[in-house]
Amino acid sequence: MKAYVLKEPYKLEEVDRDEPQIAEPDDVIIAIKVVGICGSDMLSYQGKLELISYPRIIGHEFSGVVDAVGQGVKHVKPGDPVVVEPLISCGRCKPCITGDYNVCETLKVMGVHVDGACQEKLKVKAHKVFKLPDNATLKEGITLEPFSVGLEASLRGRLTIEDKVVIFGAGTIGICVLKAVKCHNARQIISVDIDDGKLERARNMGADHIINSSKEDVEKRVMEITGGKGANLVVEASGVESALAQCFEVTAYRARVTILGFYKSPMVQIPPIHIVIKELDVYGSRVYKNRFPLALDILAKKQVVLTDLITHEFTFDKLEDAIKTAIDPEVDSLKVIVTTY
Ligand SMILES: [Zn+2]
Ligand SMILES: [Zn+2]
Repeated sequence: MKAYVLKEPYKLEEVDRDEPQIAEPDDVIIAIKVVGICGSDMLSYQGKLELISYPRIIGHEFSGVVDAVGQGVKHVKPGDPVVVEPLISCGRCKPCITGDYNVCETLKVMGVHVDGACQEKLKVKAHKVFKLPDNATLKEGITLEPFSVGLEASLRGRLTIEDKVVIFGAGTIGICVLKAVKCHNARQIISVDIDDGKLERARNMGADHIINSSKEDVEKRVMEITGGKGANLVVEASGVESALAQCFEVTAYRARVTILGFYKSPMVQIPPIHIVIKELDVYGSRVYKNRFPLALDILAKKQVVLTDLITHEFTFDKLEDAIKTAIDPEVDSLKVIVTTY
């Protein structure tokens, strides 16, 4: 079978590999159909992701069709369209035992620590495989992964219908947070970014207000919009140091701040006075845990539209072009996908 191996940064090669075989009763072999290009894939391609080792088959956002199952697998069968939660946890450490497997002490992600989806077939464990609802497409399937990141960030921040929410960053993850907040019917959503095009898109996808932080005073505008009270939930999804500092300034008293960005610099200055004076709760949010079933139910009930996340499509043999398109700052992409059909 065909596999696309990233031998080293900027060196992607098509190779012929042996097909995976069922060895354990809980094995499932997936025929890969759609793969989404994620920020971590772009960094891996450019040699900028610390966690990765080469050679590596990248890709952790994927959907496909079940090809074969081990004898113990009952919830899916060959031919079923499925998505896969790409996290591999040890099952033995303290976070795993308490159900917080997303912060497993030795968490591995498919496509980063072990080979991922940019190959014709992939063997995974049954409990990571979820059947797509009848009304969802394989393309929509790949959006479940970034949408789950948005759900996790919102729910970590104890999102309620009463909340006025500020989301920093209107890139793919910021938009996924926006969609997650939107389907919880939050009272007011304010999207902050430095790019007018991205902000306009955020508005079209449900932001009630948009703020360009390169042109406007974010704190002043949020206070105007919220009647001087500030936001009840602020989500930092931009990964920009200055935005992290601003998160605390736009909060209401007793508000929550959820941080899911990664920052270039290991130390960032923030104004801690806001945390103390306003008694803020600050949460870190790392990938997701048990959000795929929720995301699938939301999708099945059509409570969210995710197809509009996909802005560019390539066939699998054009994987390198797809990655380059996703990286290109001149191209306004949200989610670039490759498909085998
Ligand atoms: Zn991803
Ligand atoms: Zn663990």
